[in-house]
Amino acid sequence: MLRTGKEYLERIRDGRRVLIGRERVTDVTTHPAFANAARMYAAMYDMKADPAQRERMSFEEGGERFSLYFLMPKSREDLVRRTACHRAIADFSHGLLGRSPDHVASSFTGLAMKPEVFDSGGASRNQKFSQHVVNFYKRFRREDLFLAYAILPPQGARSPELYESRDRQPPTLRVTKEDDSGVTLNGMKMLATGAVFADEVIIGNILPLAPSQVKESVTCALPIGTPGVTLWARKPLSLSAKSRADGPLSTMFDETDSMVVCEDVKVPWERVFVHDDPELSRAIYIRTPGHVMSNHQSNVRFWAKLRLLVGLASKIAKSNGAHAIPAVRETLGRLAAMEACYAGMIEGQHQGLERLPTGHVHVNRRYMYAAVNYALENHAGICDLIRTLMGGGAFQLPADSSVLEDPELARIFESYWSTLEQSAEERLRLFKLAWDLLGSEFAMRHDQYEKFYVGPSFVVRNYNFMYAPWDELEGLVDGIVAASAQPK
Ligand SMILES: Cc1cc2nc3c(=O)[nH]c(=O)nc-3n(C[C@H](O)[C@H](O)[C@H](O)COP(=O)(O)OP(=O)(O)OC[C@H]3O[C@@H](n4cnc5c(N)ncnc54)[C@H](O)[C@@H]3O)c2cc1C
Repeated sequence: MLRTGKEYLERIRDGRRVLIGRERVTDVTTHPAFANAARMYAAMYDMKADPAQRERMSFEEGGERFSLYFLMPKSREDLVRRTACHRAIADFSHGLLGRSPDHVASSFTGLAMKPEVFDSGGASRNQKFSQHVVNFYKRFRREDLFLAYAILPPQGARSPELYESRDRQPPTLRVTKEDDSGVTLNGMKMLATGAVFADEVIIGNILPLAPSQVKESVTCALPIGTPGVTLWARKPLSLSAKSRADGPLSTMFDETDSMVVCEDVKVPWERVFVHDDPELSRAIYIRTPGHVMSNHQSNVRFWAKLRLLVGLASKIAKSNGAHAIPAVRETLGRLAAMEACYAGMIEGQHQGLERLPTGHVHVNRRYMYAAVNYALENHAGICDLIRTLMGGGAFQLPADSSVLEDPELARIFESYWSTLEQSAEERLRLFKLAWDLLGSEFAMRHDQYEKFYVGPSFVVRNYNFMYAPWDELEGLVDGIVAASAQPK
């Protein structure tokens, strides 16, 4: 089934507990901090369900239609179709939704492509975890659900022995009770982007656990409205700007990040995928295409943002009358080269696809991690280049766009702030957009997101290290060294 926006909004009005500071939000679809973003996600669901988008956004199986990001790819053509669907979603949101509905869905689709991995760790209580994974995959694609994930322990709580030495329970989420019906969870997980707007959250462990962290090693799915689950949202950024003109992105695309706090949360066994297995709880992301598929989405999402950034750089240079200056053209050329480079990295992932014994394929893992690293290394620098092109432009503007509503102030504003090419209002709209993307609190949250969404930089580089063909690369050196032993 392909949900409509209306159906999506109805389902997330489920009495979920969301906190903004001490305020309890009763309905995320109407609260001023979240309503615009909720409507934006609803519009995305409508776009996806639009019959005109049928081929681009969905596929058919067994007489039913499903969102394309649930497709288990079996050919290069399938991979290209998946990328086109990610691209449509990323373009819709200008690459500003790190965890749009296609992100965690891609991760879980990848997990379900090798369900046998979930039975490889000594299943407990006679549970058939692979079956839980397959059933969950079938259900969430049938119901077209939006999943978020929280797969890290909270900061500062990663060494259980430090807590134990002070006789305190680590705050990280763990199984505190289990019986024939399922497990009970208590504790906290970091950091569920998009969860305020999602149907369910996946709890898991992307960081390796110590062998002693048996009870922390649970992987499961929780509907956000489950009794005992509370989302502690960070400061909403959608309210920072007075109007849409003052924050055209932050007012619409704040996906929100939340800590997930569980107090005596009951989870039935059929929603548990890994239990009492520290090694397996992380290995599922590596031994299946889960991590590859979610982070390919991240690449496509970043590409959309990069296109916006490069377009913005050019518009700013034009607005300031600097577009034709050779040094400015050089900067724009450099940015254009980076965008083209990134586009090539995404295309290359299809060309270098990898095949699984199951008949499935996934994009080239190395090229995907290289693209993650490229984004991590370059995003802040790109933003800095564009801020440099802006000069003091953003600070020439009045405090907010309300001057446009006052005829006398609007007249003065137009006569002093307009340029030969642009009206004052056009400049205001452009520079407000630029600051929203490059200098605001929303922009800084994005900067942090691009630095950390896969993990800290050393983790990203470790993925690149792990999959590099070292034998082949070192062999090149060995060949020359061996040849150098021959007479000249
Ligand atoms: C905006 C945002 C959204 C996020 N969304 C999600 C989400 O949807 N789901 C989810 O599960 N997680 C999410 N995360 C969490 C993200 O995965 C983590 O932030 C990331 O893995 C880094 O972990 P950390 O924040 O605990 O930082 P830490 O691991 O504490 O690292 C902090 C700093 O210390 C350095 N450091 C720490 N240990 C070492 C070491 N051994 N060697 C060298 N340097 C070290 C790091 O490089 C880093 O600079 C999000 C994070 C952000 C910022």
